[in-house]
Amino acid sequence: MKNRVPFVLIFFLLSLAINLQAQPDSHTSVNIKAPPVNLTQFQMSYFIDTSQEMTFEQIQKQPFIPSKNEITLGPNAKTAWSKIIITNDSTQTLRLFLHNSDAYHLQRIDFYETKQGKLLNQTNIELDKSGHKADIFGGSAIFSFMLAAGEKKTIYSKSVTFSHQWYSLELYDEEHSKRALVSSSNYTALLVGMMLALMIYNFFLYLSARKVENIVYALYLISGTIWVALSYGLAANFFGIFSAEILQFNSTLYSMPSFLIIFMMLIFETKKRHPKEHIALSIILTILAAEFIYSLFDLVSALKPASSLAALMMTITLGVLISLWRKRDPLAKYFFLGHSMFILFNMLAVLYYKGLTESNQINSHGVGIGILLEALMMAFILSYRIKALESIKSAQVELKKLADTDPLTKLYNRRYFEKASSQLITKSQIANAELSVIIADLDYFKAINDTYGHHIGDQVIIEFAKIITKQQRPNDIACRYGGEEFLLLVNCNLEAAKNIAQRIRSEAEKTILKTQKNEEIRFTVSLGVHPLFCEDDNILEAIALADQALYNAKNQGRNCVATLS
Ligand code: GH3
Ligand code: MG
Ligand code: MG
Repeated sequence: MKNRVPFVLIFFLLSLAINLQAQPDSHTSVNIKAPPVNLTQFQMSYFIDTSQEMTFEQIQKQPFIPSKNEITLGPNAKTAWSKIIITNDSTQTLRLFLHNSDAYHLQRIDFYETKQGKLLNQTNIELDKSGHKADIFGGSAIFSFMLAAGEKKTIYSKSVTFSHQWYSLELYDEEHSKRALVSSSNYTALLVGMMLALMIYNFFLYLSARKVENIVYALYLISGTIWVALSYGLAANFFGIFSAEILQFNSTLYSMPSFLIIFMMLIFETKKRHPKEHIALSIILTILAAEFIYSLFDLVSALKPASSLAALMMTITLGVLISLWRKRDPLAKYFFLGHSMFILFNMLAVLYYKGLTESNQINSHGVGIGILLEALMMAFILSYRIKALESIKSAQVELKKLADTDPLTKLYNRRYFEKASSQLITKSQIANAELSVIIADLDYFKAINDTYGHHIGDQVIIEFAKIITKQQRPNDIACRYGGEEFLLLVNCNLEAAKNIAQRIRSEAEKTILKTQKNEEIRFTVSLGVHPLFCEDDNILEAIALADQALYNAKNQGRNCVATLS
């Protein structure tokens, strides 16, 4: 059930995309009944001048094909004409504004105003030449004309492109013309804004985790954002970047997938863990990188194999992801989902740019949507990975703790004691402070085991460990040294240590444990204390001497504290 979700989503988006391109009806004139004029969808017609040399007089005689006001004709329609027949059915004279809101990427736009076949006015805008930008506002080219009550005019627009022919025309009165200019890049600004937010977030992630994949992810986003901002007119609106200048930045179409592949290599650690997949990714990465460098010198030639390379890249990356998914890599299926979205929307975009479908908001922004969806999935993958690394880290900490502690009493074990004591000794040497060793051994413990059983013996050991923990001060080290033997390294001189030992002894003496049969169990402990002189810092020798003192305590009748002096 879970695995069907992506396919249902894809189906939904596809049907949405198909519905949005419902065919317009066939008559191609625009009738304005009354102001306001705010026409973002209307009928016009187009003609492709394959010779690219026809005069306006010749164009007027050509058969135009009905179309929507948004148009995409592919890479072979370098010169395309649109024709809009407008009638003013209102009772007042109108001043109208015809916008070409995708003008920023075109090479040249001309507008011709005619009435009954006679040319009244014209504007020619060459976008790749600096200077003449008087009719360009933001990313839009604008042509204005008057239309008296009852009057009918025909407006022609000529569009010359470097690569793919796509643009949209809208018709407004003065107020709506201004409003359209203000909001023309909202949609793109939203896309770019989200990508920038991801970029900044990722920069912080890099600062905290220092993982190179965060940088690669940011580079992917930078390439994607540059492409989106330029191709959808945002850069034209804000920075006045147009036409041929925009074309050059299409080289990001090669850098973006290159960073995506490096990201895959890093996330899945393909070099170390999946050598076959690594070779496949390396091959396509090499080709893309070579194309990127080539594009810096000759973009138009470098972009020619773009569609085939995109298909190759998509096939290889999807193949690698499926293979990793089958190897049960936990991240592969998420990456597969995000990447499928990227591919789906890019395919819609390819159909749009090639002029194979009518345009709509989804396919005309397919690359941007695809980049963003993949970027979101990559962000999810990064956070998933951080979580996985965190849990490995905390498991390591837990293991280390387990290796250092005694499972029965939760006190440190001998191994840890030896490590920690040498640090404590070094510290005391610096501070010129005294240390003492206390060793404790329960009295007649064999008898407790024999009388009540091993389980009760364990309870006594646990109880005694609690007494030690209570008497221990923050910088002291206590450990279970052996079966029922305990060791303390305390931060004080012999006299103070003897007092601590006495307190432990007396606490033990006072403690009463009860069995299930309500029998009372008492126990006592003998302790040996010895000072540790920092100059000769030999902990093992001090322990041996404390052990001798303990032997004395046992000989003195047990349940007492003894020293060697
Ligand atoms: P002494 O007063 O001379 O110390 O007499 P003792 O019987 O306590 O002698 P000793 O210290 O040599 O005895 C250690 C006994 O502790 C031997 C062993 O059966 C018991 N023991 C060691 N580890 C454990 C443990 O983890 N649980 C229990 N229940 N008994 C243990
Ligand atoms: Mg013992
Ligand atoms: Mg004992």
